[in-house]
Amino acid sequence: MSEIILEVSNLDVFYGDLQAIHDVSLKIEKGSMVSLIGANGAGKSTLLTTIMGVNKPKNGKIFWKGQDITGLSTNKIVSRGLTLTPEGSHIFEDMTVRENLQVGSWTNKSREAKADAEEKVYDIFPVLKEKRTQLASFLSGGQRQMLAIGRAIMASPEMIICDEISLGLAPVVIKDIYASLRKICESGVTFLLVEQEVKRCLKYTDYGYVMVKGGIVMEGKCSELPEDKVSDAYFGIGEFA
Ligand code: ATP
Repeated sequence: MSEIILEVSNLDVFYGDLQAIHDVSLKIEKGSMVSLIGANGAGKSTLLTTIMGVNKPKNGKIFWKGQDITGLSTNKIVSRGLTLTPEGSHIFEDMTVRENLQVGSWTNKSREAKADAEEKVYDIFPVLKEKRTQLASFLSGGQRQMLAIGRAIMASPEMIICDEISLGLAPVVIKDIYASLRKICESGVTFLLVEQEVKRCLKYTDYGYVMVKGGIVMEGKCSELPEDKVSDAYFGIGEFA
């Protein structure tokens, strides 16, 4: 097994009395594309926000490159090289495309590093270069997601966590976005992608975790996970009822 970049160990997370995450563990290999599959309310966003330091776990640990980051602030976690694109992209509509990108570059201290990161974004998403002086409010749904990913790249991360980047996008746009993610992955960035669609995860990512009611019920290499079994787990039917 190659180097583990992110490890979550026996995590329990509560909102008041409600336990949203039950004893969740996962290990993500450096340089891989991993998916977290689950229906509405399965606990995916809670897991991501806990990894990013927004929610504090009641039990369990989170290790980044072997170091315990449980309870660290989000700022510190992003500074260490782990970043998140939230569900719904959350771009700033009244700022230009370029200004939106620059918001993401606060962890890069030198002007040179900021310029390099911006060039990398334009290289992956040429349409953002074309539209860099336009207001972000004029972007299409797919371009907004590209901008959200671009903003994450501006922090020169080693790993990007994406929360439902395909939500509401046409299949042809999703295909393009996944092709771009694979390109970014090949440049050395690890991905954890949260998805609701089983087929898409199995097609585009290397390793998958299936989450149901706050717990991981199945995991494996996507090439070896049978789609019907993952679907049964996802819907809580068959042997998973
Ligand atoms: P979705 O795909 O709809 O975003 P999800 O898999 O990301 O779903 P979460 O949003 O993590 O799931 O929700 C997990 C559980 O925690 C759900 O029962 C939800 O109602 C509950 N929950 C989420 N956020 C809060 C909160 N801020 N306060 C209380 N309960 C919450």
